[in-house]
Amino acid sequence: MEPIYNFSAGPAVLPKEVLQQARDEMLDWHGSGMSVMEMSHRGKEFMSIAARLETDLRELASIPPNYKVLFLSGGASSQFAMVPMNLVRGKKSANYINTGQWSTKALKEAKKYCAVHVAASSEDANFTYAPTQDKWNIDPEGAYLHYTPNETIGGVEFNWIPDLSGTDIPLVADISSAFMSRPLDVSRFGLIYAGTQKNVGPAGLCIVIVREDLIGTTVPGTPTMFDYKIHADNDSMYNTPPTYAMYITGLVVEWLKQKGGLQAMEKINIAKARLLYDFLDTTDFYHCPVAKPDRSRMNVPFTLKDPGLDEEFLKQARTHGLIQLKGHRSVGGMRASIYNAMPLEGVKVLVEFMKEFASNHA
Ligand SMILES: *Cc1c(COP(=O)(O)O)cnc(C)c1O
Repeated sequence: MEPIYNFSAGPAVLPKEVLQQARDEMLDWHGSGMSVMEMSHRGKEFMSIAARLETDLRELASIPPNYKVLFLSGGASSQFAMVPMNLVRGKKSANYINTGQWSTKALKEAKKYCAVHVAASSEDANFTYAPTQDKWNIDPEGAYLHYTPNETIGGVEFNWIPDLSGTDIPLVADISSAFMSRPLDVSRFGLIYAGTQKNVGPAGLCIVIVREDLIGTTVPGTPTMFDYKIHADNDSMYNTPPTYAMYITGLVVEWLKQKGGLQAMEKINIAKARLLYDFLDTTDFYHCPVAKPDRSRMNVPFTLKDPGLDEEFLKQARTHGLIQLKGHRSVGGMRASIYNAMPLEGVKVLVEFMKEFASNHA
């Protein structure tokens, strides 16, 4: 069978080795006689899986000890509400940077809990760039500043971390689609969150990393399940966590460690992105709308000169084993998501196919 390369934006490709291990352990995890799916979340077997996941994650991402790591359900979308509910802390407003569809959703939800101050936006150019910090207008009274380091739909990535030193404004990031794609200095952030189905696991789990002094005060009426402190005090076992998603994410984290960690991953991710963007820049058959310095290493949107060829492109791509390349329904065109588990070889095959398709339809 020809290899299949899956460019889905999420749920997305997972490392083959991880899926094989999950298959081998499906009916009997480590001699327990149970599938991980059948285990009590409070039993010693699953407790060991959860503890290992947190330890490995802390080591891999160099998470400082004064940060809590929470394993929650409800997706990254629930964080759009949980962040303001927990971090407004008696203040009136919060800062948001608006760089696309995900930040727009986050700030709309925040408006239910506080005034939203949009400190910068790239809406003027259809969200195709990341506004540099010298153009920001930050409300110093804002409870925090929220941004989206990688806009999964628009393919816009901040290749720098906003600098809020000299203020007491915590930096908050929805890093769903770039989590673990490169080293990250967690100490620069008050809170980061990531739905795992983009780069580190299956759907159903959202990882929240939060500085512990920021939690404990919620807006009135906050549901118990939306209170970070409840989850932190109960080691993410206040209710049943998404156990199977945690297990698979744990296997992915082990895989990342074996691959040499986040520095090694970053190298490969740079090579993959460079290969694809360099090609896109040599042709006018394809077009990437994103400003060069802000192009995402993870999600590469591109259009064909003639959108009438989109269906044919997707059809032929499938026969080459290249799947899930269709762009987001809101922007059309194509999108190649090239997360950690996409090998360099997959991008090579894609670029070769794109060359061939372009010369056949020139
Ligand atoms: C996918 C995605 C979300 C939404 O995640 P859900 O788990 O579906 O709620 C939010 N933000 C970003 C940046 C995403 O890529």
